[in-house]
Amino acid sequence: MASGHVALRLYGPLNDFLTVARRQKLLFWPLGRPAAVKDVIEAVGVPHPEVGLLLVDGASVGFAHRVGGGERVAAYPTFAAIDVAVLSRVAPPRPAQLRFVVDGHLGRLAAYLRALGLDTDYTNHRADDALARCSSEQERVLLTRDQGLLKRRIVEYGYWVRSTDPEAQLFELCARFDLAGHAAPFTRCVPCNGVLADAQKQDVLERVPPRTRERQEHFRQCTACGQVFWRGSHYYRMRRLIEAVLGRTP
Ligand SMILES: [Zn+2]
Repeated sequence: MASGHVALRLYGPLNDFLTVARRQKLLFWPLGRPAAVKDVIEAVGVPHPEVGLLLVDGASVGFAHRVGGGERVAAYPTFAAIDVAVLSRVAPPRPAQLRFVVDGHLGRLAAYLRALGLDTDYTNHRADDALARCSSEQERVLLTRDQGLLKRRIVEYGYWVRSTDPEAQLFELCARFDLAGHAAPFTRCVPCNGVLADAQKQDVLERVPPRTRERQEHFRQCTACGQVFWRGSHYYRMRRLIEAVLGRTP
């Protein structure tokens, strides 16, 4: 191979960022001048938070490692099941807690994650800067369909959501992250992300419609916004989805 190129191989879901014709193949990527390997893989199309392990000529390197041409570069995805951190110079230690910050375009997905009891920061209009900062400062996994947002340097934990359908997105995340292992369904307020607590019926009567008062005995209340929840039709719809995603009854 002539210098001035790197021979790049992407593994697994990192191929999703390539055009179909380029997937699962060795790519010869031209280099105008020496560059950080992070900039090379992002020029190819892969946002750096998707990469868990980078090998240059067989050795694990960090994103700042410079390539000048003639190297073999292999990029592996961040795995949910295998902890590559022991081998890897790029994968940051996993956050202690699985928490998310969700791009304003993914509101239904954010609601599903909250229904699963996962701490999910979401508002429908937030600038890219604020999303990236929230992810960085609070060690939340940034979920977005905007690949450019994930390429920002301060974003360490991020994932490009492949599907466009919200339910398919939830199944996708379940495969990528161990949602089943972290979920605590119906413990979090879907509108505000607050934590729910059991409530006595007499304490919440004023917040409940008359027909529900007659039919329901068990209520939960958001400790942040005060909204009251019970097992209505919405609950049963959500429960069916959660059962399908987790493979168990919540
Ligand atoms: Zn609430």
